[in-house]
Amino acid sequence: MKATGIVRQIDEVGRIVLPVELRSTLGIDKKDSVEIFTEGDTIVLRKYQPTCVFCGKTENIKEFKKKLLCVDCIRELTEQFNTENAEADSSFAAEGTGNNG
Ligand SMILES: [Zn+2]
Repeated sequence: MKATGIVRQIDEVGRIVLPVELRSTLGIDKKDSVEIFTEGDTIVLRKYQPTCVFCGKTENIKEFKKKLLCVDCIRELTEQFNTENAEADSSFAAEGTGNNG
């Protein structure tokens, strides 16, 4: 961790202002979200980046039923369930033929 030499006072309702130089260096714009971590008595703020619930990737994220998934995992899930459905369909069809015959 790198010291910045910046000291800020917490206001009466618990807020601090992140210096503009720091925000621009880290690519944090107004209204962006930051994620708060703790490590012992240390607070770490990191620009919030939505991540895939399965693999943790931050690129090509889509929201589905309030969960975030990357397009790679969506593709993988789709392929897996298409395969499973195809197998289920074929076993059902075979069973149906047996009952009818
Ligand atoms: Zn993923």
